[in-house]
Amino acid sequence: DPADPAVRPGIPPRREDLAGVEPYGAPQIDVPHLLNVNESPFGPSAALAADLGRAVQEASAGLNRYPDREFTALRADLAEYLAAESGIPAPAVEEVWAANGSNEVMHQLMLAFGGPGRTALGFAPHYSMYPEYARDTFTRWVVADRGPAPDFALGADDVREAISAHRPHIVVLTSPNNPTGTALDPEVVRAAAEALLPSSGMLVVDEAYGEFRRDGVPSALELLGEFPNLVVTRTMSKAFALAGGRLGYLVADPRIVDAVRVVRLPYHLSAVTQAVARTALAHREELLGQVERLRAERDALFDHLVERGHVVAPSDANFVYFEPLLHRAASRHDVWEALLERGVLIREVGPEPWMRVSVGAPQDNAAFRTALEEADPR
Ligand code: PMP
Repeated sequence: DPADPAVRPGIPPRREDLAGVEPYGAPQIDVPHLLNVNESPFGPSAALAADLGRAVQEASAGLNRYPDREFTALRADLAEYLAAESGIPAPAVEEVWAANGSNEVMHQLMLAFGGPGRTALGFAPHYSMYPEYARDTFTRWVVADRGPAPDFALGADDVREAISAHRPHIVVLTSPNNPTGTALDPEVVRAAAEALLPSSGMLVVDEAYGEFRRDGVPSALELLGEFPNLVVTRTMSKAFALAGGRLGYLVADPRIVDAVRVVRLPYHLSAVTQAVARTALAHREELLGQVERLRAERDALFDHLVERGHVVAPSDANFVYFEPLLHRAASRHDVWEALLERGVLIREVGPEPWMRVSVGAPQDNAAFRTALEEADPR
């Protein structure tokens, strides 16, 4: 409508499929208890902050040069870490790849393996960015449903059926899943990888929250040796408390990594990013110790919500997905607003009226519990 003051002649029109589309964004609001984007509540210790400073200073001396395009030292450190964390043999450097957050890793995967005429399949409720990577890369995004609340389970048969119905080129499984917190049985991952093998379809298992899984829950990393079509993605944003550093990574067959190398922008990982990530990996004992604390806080928060009478999804992640009681509050949005008024920011996401709260430091979780008493009384 040319009469619309927002339409100025001469402003180039967007791609048609992007008309009216809003950018991704959980609200960034300055309140005392940030429990809405599954960050770690713990900033670096003074020792780690000092080491990060030194590493950045050293990297700065060479900032006139482009960084190592293949970030080989960082990939070797990531391979070594993965072996230590999951008990798998250390992947080769050629099997590891990284980018600015696992968001960029997934984007690169869809650039190289999706595209016009290709289909990617996910299971709802899922992480909100998946359809956006698909849209950006002209990949068709199709969705099958996870099982009913409160488990939001996904079984091997569900996955096989969805694959045979949609014939996807890429399947994204998330374990533990965002927003539900559900980890997948490795048999489900195996079923998906097997069902995709005849058509050489790719299975991406997004393990952004992998380190928070409960004891005895295996990682899909263990299946890498069996399935050439399997890609496991991880991130340093959550377990390594490095959301601001932007470092996500994947492990896969070297031929998959090679294809991603074709579409990545040159020097996409800055020298500063590489130095920061390597320093955080070197301090992994401190950082993974915090994961232990957060897992204990998560289990306590789950128990608290169950005792309060909520329906709660079992969680293997650093957040808990629950239904507000809505005895007196009218909607989840009312609960969200009343929490925000009390300085606690959580997330309205997925099917109504479910809400997701990240696990914070003990004082954040206590503030959430108190605010919830008032916002959504029993
Ligand atoms: N996958 C899942 C399931 C997530 O929840 C997130 C972040 N919320 C990401 C990937 C992306 O994280 P990052 O880009 O910070 O690695």
